[in-house]
Amino acid sequence: MIFESWLQQLFPFNLFCLFVFFLIENSALVVLSVLIGKMLEPENTFLKNKDRKWVLSTLLCNTFITLIGFELYRYGIMKVDFSASIKLIIFDTLLLILLMDLFMFIFHFLVHHLKWLYPIHKLHHTHVETNVYSLYVLHPIETLGFGFIWLFLITILKFNYLSIIIYLVLNLSYGIFGHLKKDIFPSFWYSNSFTKWISTTKFHNDHHKNESQNYGFYFTIWDKIFKTMI
Ligand SMILES: [Zn+2]
Ligand SMILES: [Zn+2]
Repeated sequence: MIFESWLQQLFPFNLFCLFVFFLIENSALVVLSVLIGKMLEPENTFLKNKDRKWVLSTLLCNTFITLIGFELYRYGIMKVDFSASIKLIIFDTLLLILLMDLFMFIFHFLVHHLKWLYPIHKLHHTHVETNVYSLYVLHPIETLGFGFIWLFLITILKFNYLSIIIYLVLNLSYGIFGHLKKDIFPSFWYSNSFTKWISTTKFHNDHHKNESQNYGFYFTIWDKIFKTMI
């Protein structure tokens, strides 16, 4: 398996080299998301001076989480399935997205409702009008919180490597689409009996405008179940 051997080629490197490697990888993802933002909304994609340090700290926290994930894999604590079974890949991807959405919904709900946690999340809500940079304006404790939820899930359950990659691509895409100003989802999305369960730009934009609703990220299902969606 080519991806498995790529990962194993990183095994001899020390923690500093790995940190630099993952810092480059995570920086490339930030640059990619800003480029997508600039392509879709050139006038709305700007970085305020006061947010620079938060974008940088989120980048460093994400790099740290990537490094811990790699170490968990290197020491055999995190197991990854490298088989090419299509059925398994589809099942694992759906399970991963659904469980992460549930865990993140709970975490997000708690940071809004626990008085001692809310000051941490308040930083993200300084962006009432969002742009792609809003995705990175997060307190380090919040970024690490999401990161540890992610590491916990993929460590206690063994997922297929392609499911993990697909999930990470979807997660970044949803982070970008959820923070654009203009809704990129077509109007039928809101009435179609299948797509109405999948969240949109407007869904997360509405959360930035009214913090008592829409705590989910990928699906609207948890907000419907817990009656936190208007
Ligand atoms: Zn947001
Ligand atoms: Zn929030």
